[in-house]
Amino acid sequence: MSAWESSVLDAGSNPEWKSLLPKLVGDLDTWSERMQPIAAKVSNGERLTLADGIVLFEHPNLSEVGRLANCIRSARFGSNAFFNSNVHVNQTNICVLACKFCAFRRSKKAKDAYALDINAYLEDLGQYAEHVDEVHSVGGLHPDWGVEHYAELFKASRERFPHVSIKALTAVEIKHLSQLSNMSYKDTLQRLRDAGLGSLPGGGAEILDDGVRAIICNGKESSSEYLEIHRTAHELGIPTNCTMLFGTIETLEQRLMHMIQLREVNDDTSGFQCFVPYPFLPDHTRLPEAQLATGSEILRTIAVSRLMLDTIPHIKAYRMNIGDELAELALQYGADDIDGTVQKESIMHLAGSTTPLDHDRIRLARLITDAGCVPVQRNTTYERFEIFVPPEPKPRRGLKMASP
Ligand code: SF4
Repeated sequence: MSAWESSVLDAGSNPEWKSLLPKLVGDLDTWSERMQPIAAKVSNGERLTLADGIVLFEHPNLSEVGRLANCIRSARFGSNAFFNSNVHVNQTNICVLACKFCAFRRSKKAKDAYALDINAYLEDLGQYAEHVDEVHSVGGLHPDWGVEHYAELFKASRERFPHVSIKALTAVEIKHLSQLSNMSYKDTLQRLRDAGLGSLPGGGAEILDDGVRAIICNGKESSSEYLEIHRTAHELGIPTNCTMLFGTIETLEQRLMHMIQLREVNDDTSGFQCFVPYPFLPDHTRLPEAQLATGSEILRTIAVSRLMLDTIPHIKAYRMNIGDELAELALQYGADDIDGTVQKESIMHLAGSTTPLDHDRIRLARLITDAGCVPVQRNTTYERFEIFVPPEPKPRRGLKMASP
């Protein structure tokens, strides 16, 4: 089968995935003593607790944590790894807030402030529209753009590019629009959905702990507002992603509580399709106290996410943030999606990302096959899938080894 479909709820997961776990986890004697109780729970399809999560974060053998995470990934998706053809168009960098970690926002008067009006946005998107089926649009909280501005923008985009699904506006942007337009979250989301909004990205979750939020993103939506906005979207039939920004000032326990709150929402709604854990990038930002995550910590956090988030189908290795090399490795640590062709992106690149933007499907497929997986192109909401068969690669250069 080279192409298939799934429901939005399953999002491409094998609905019987839990029944495959005993075979994939195998004999408990093959696991270290400390991991055995957790491996047993995974094998039985039981939910992991906060205490289990701490053990996973502190376990000295990282590859064993990755191996267990990969059992779940394989049960859900076999060796498939997903990507899509998308472009990021960040509509404005003007923002009424000034989150401490943000390198992107500008005040309205800043020399390099910009705001794409509807025509400029369509022109930008038009440069890529032929090659993509998703536009990912997030930006600053513009003081003058309310719900009607975005409704017009989405309507015009859908009319001009009907094949391009709109994934746009993080929870804090929804909150901002609803305040500016004096509408409830439900009415705001309904208006935007009716104008063409297809799904919400997960950005802005940072860490769902109001003490941490007061320091790193004072003024942004609270933890409960983030969850409420996503819950409301799910109830309106709008699927969403969720994220976690780690490596700022949070504790391991706060990371785990973040995951636990998300999975509890999904117990009720099944509307979160993908979790995107990404580390804080420090350049040009204002958070000197951040405890930056190392490469191993990034892989471990991805693996722990896969193990804790039993009700969220996909775990994304966000290559715009962690780079192609770690994203490729993350596919062996529980991640199953590496985002898309992207083409254009500002937020992570202003914060220090050097990930190339010019990837086409062939280069993405190469990352995936090198990680031992099968590249599968998906649509935005994980309902349509097609195995992508790249052309045969050129034979690799044989490097001469130096003689001793
Ligand atoms: S993270 Fe978002 S809300 Fe916060 S300052 Fe940056 S653009 Fe504004």
